[in-house]
Amino acid sequence: MKNQPLLFELGKSGRRALDLPALDVPVQKGLLPATVIRSEEAALPELSQLEVMRHYTQLSNRNFGVDTGFYPLGSCTMKYNPKINEDIAKIPGLSAVHPLQNAKLVQGSLRLIYEVEQALSEIAGMAGTTMQPVAGAHGELTGLKLIRAYHRDRGDLARTKVIVPDSAHGTNPASATMCGMEAIEIKSEADGSIDLAALRAVVGPDTAALMLTNPSTLGLFETQIKEIAEIVHDAGGLLYYDGANANAIMGIVRPGDMGFDVVHFNLHKTFSTPHGGGGPGAGPIGVREILLPFLPEPRVIKNGENFEWAVPTKSIGKVHGFYGNFGIFTRAYAYILSMGAAGLRQASEDAVLNANYCKKMLEEAYDSPFDRYCMHECIVTSKKQKAQGIHTLDIAKRLLDYGYHPPTIYFPLIVEEAMMIEPTETESKETLDGFIEAMKSIAQEAEENPEVIISAPHHTVVSRLDETLAARKPVVKWEA
Ligand SMILES: *Cc1c(COP(=O)(O)O)cnc(C)c1O
Repeated sequence: MKNQPLLFELGKSGRRALDLPALDVPVQKGLLPATVIRSEEAALPELSQLEVMRHYTQLSNRNFGVDTGFYPLGSCTMKYNPKINEDIAKIPGLSAVHPLQNAKLVQGSLRLIYEVEQALSEIAGMAGTTMQPVAGAHGELTGLKLIRAYHRDRGDLARTKVIVPDSAHGTNPASATMCGMEAIEIKSEADGSIDLAALRAVVGPDTAALMLTNPSTLGLFETQIKEIAEIVHDAGGLLYYDGANANAIMGIVRPGDMGFDVVHFNLHKTFSTPHGGGGPGAGPIGVREILLPFLPEPRVIKNGENFEWAVPTKSIGKVHGFYGNFGIFTRAYAYILSMGAAGLRQASEDAVLNANYCKKMLEEAYDSPFDRYCMHECIVTSKKQKAQGIHTLDIAKRLLDYGYHPPTIYFPLIVEEAMMIEPTETESKETLDGFIEAMKSIAQEAEENPEVIISAPHHTVVSRLDETLAARKPVVKWEA
């Protein structure tokens, strides 16, 4: 790929992309102080419409997205989101509603919120859901605030500790800390499951909650879930379920049935909102009965045939402006209705099947640290390639040459040189086979010609970047 000139370097004097109508208002002199008025014209590029169009279209083609290729970024669920859900989110009757409009005039929008809450409560096995949090991490913070409010309401002020397994996503301990509680880490067993003895050793009268991700960030289903729930509940703590990996369990198991008290979903992972670049998102949380009175306000309630705003009796207040990111609820609503209960279950089953297929097919070429079925994502490592001086980062970079977005690398932290592959249910067997072929071919290159991997990527616009410098000292301005 050859490097593209900057827009500022293109163009010819006098070229125009459009004709503006002549100014038809009187020019008023003296409105602005002289110091802010240009004395010379700005040196802007002058281009035709076609040149501008080509420039931006070519730049857009450098971007890698689900619409252009396989994107197995583990933990992120980069599945294909049907475009019809985007069209539905754009319907003016939904997208142009003002949040301060009288509830009587926006009954359809309130109904949509109510029904998507009901659907998520059903999927979670919970008594109620709030749609207000706008990210998974925000759901975690909100859930922990509810748990704290619940303990305080009972006069139990000593519960300030949140137990988090070492396999958890970094947001879990961060949310506990943000909530003013103390995160207590417990180690996982060699097979990736929770160490029950370690859990028993830390629970007590100061335990506010345990946060658990299931399937875990290792892509494994936590099988001792009943024991874990009992240990924590018996000690008086509550159970928080990080449901970011819900793509593995929809319609198969429910956090509520596993004994959990709060669960968050990432609508931007599981329920059809495209993500990346930082948002917007939605991290609704489902809660058990005992936490309903504490939910953020306002909530939508159904009163006869009407939908109304209401404030729960012991509400923790607001956690976001108005009611959260409504546009994302519309996508989730359309997705859930179009998939139906059976379709959601099928999606999860296919996601798990695809991940196990990748795991099995890669097991010979790559080290596979856990000898059991995985859920919707699998982990392999570069342990076998270590002798050739090849690290996971090199393999990820080489994958770019083959036209694939790399998997998540170096996460989860407790697996050395991890590559976390989440194929998702929306990919065909042919696509998976192509990716597997590329991974195998890289493993072969590692044997025969490691240099080609270590110096990769070779076919991208830029090769290896100094990522630290790019983040610390980004150059975002062009100067002549
Ligand atoms: C993505 C993710 C989160 C955080 O979700 P955000 O919406 O990015 O805040 C939390 N836990 C797990 C396991 C995740 O994969």
